[in-house]
Amino acid sequence: MNPMILPGATLGMLGGGQLGRMFTIAARTMGYRVMVLDPDPISPAGQVADMHLCADYQDETALSQMGRECAAVTTEFENVPAQTLRALAQHCPVKPGAEAVEIAQNRVAEKSWLHAHGFATAPFAVVAAPAEIAAACAQVGFPAVLKVSRFGYDGKGQARVASLDEAQAAFAAMGGEVCVLEKMLALECELSVVLGRNEAGACALYPVAENIHEAGILDISIVPARVEQTLAQTARATAQAIADQLGYCGVMAVEFFVVDGGRLVVNEIAPRPHNSGHYTLDACLTSQFEMQVRTLCNLPIGATTQHTPAVMVNLLGDLWGASQPNWTALLQHPAAKLHLYGKQSARPGRKMGHFTCVDASLETALALARTIRAQL
Ligand code: ADP
Ligand code: MG
Repeated sequence: MNPMILPGATLGMLGGGQLGRMFTIAARTMGYRVMVLDPDPISPAGQVADMHLCADYQDETALSQMGRECAAVTTEFENVPAQTLRALAQHCPVKPGAEAVEIAQNRVAEKSWLHAHGFATAPFAVVAAPAEIAAACAQVGFPAVLKVSRFGYDGKGQARVASLDEAQAAFAAMGGEVCVLEKMLALECELSVVLGRNEAGACALYPVAENIHEAGILDISIVPARVEQTLAQTARATAQAIADQLGYCGVMAVEFFVVDGGRLVVNEIAPRPHNSGHYTLDACLTSQFEMQVRTLCNLPIGATTQHTPAVMVNLLGDLWGASQPNWTALLQHPAAKLHLYGKQSARPGRKMGHFTCVDASLETALALARTIRAQL
């Protein structure tokens, strides 16, 4: 087991997006120094880090500097090349490890791993060439979703298809990339579980989040999820079993679909903090980003206790018209907390920030969140 890494040490973060930014803030709050690697000169995390290496994820000079100067390295996105994680692991602890990230960054590997380990997924077939589409459609049935195996996020790299013709056109539009064709399920709701797991195998689970998506992008997370206790407990136990079987170390999230009157299907695994866990910044004793620091540094794992019901709303670039959203409508509510990520340009669908509403009554928090959003 690696020794504890105490405050004052430098931690490495691969990726400069909002998740890296919130990790950096949590780490610096605890007295660590943070080095961020991201090719974007004005990345959200680079802005708030002690050091920003502005270089590609495979840049050998940058990686060797990171390996030399950091006591441990983590990541904020699943698309970091596994080779980068392996190279860094020769110098210092890297969490999560390359094996887990390799599974989560590739939908074929991910669904195959889940299937092989007995976790239910939506029925799917791999499509690697045009000649395989007809058999995949026959196996999966319609309606279906074609998803590119790598680099998809926020509903990008996905197409809903209702016929063989549409599936063929969608596959051609994906540019010849390997895809999975997945059965379109009638969702009763979507849930997620964020957890931290340390080297000793201790697991700290957050409450189950209920997630509402718009156009494939997370819109609102409601926590705790308004589902039966037994279903929530099954979701948490399943997420923990996945982490255990992966031998996972760090923070991860499991996204679930609820179908058929309360049956859980695993949608995907995120080897990092998750958008549906942002509420933990304002509603839990240990945020998911502090949890990432704690698991990275081998500190005691931390308490996931939620001290108030919470509703998180994403702020997408669509809200930025010619001017900024109406922040006073939000800031005047003492039960609402604003988080902005420091992104310079707002584009439709781009995650610019989020806000969280808290109240002793979950329904009141949800109503307030909806009222505020309508006023922005
Ligand atoms: P991403 O990596 O973009 O988050 P997901 O596979 O999680 O991709 O899909 C995004 C969203 O699209 C899901 O949260 C869900 O709302 C919807 N979706 C994806 N796959 C299915 C499916 N098989 N059946 C029904 N809805 C789906
Ligand atoms: Mg998803």
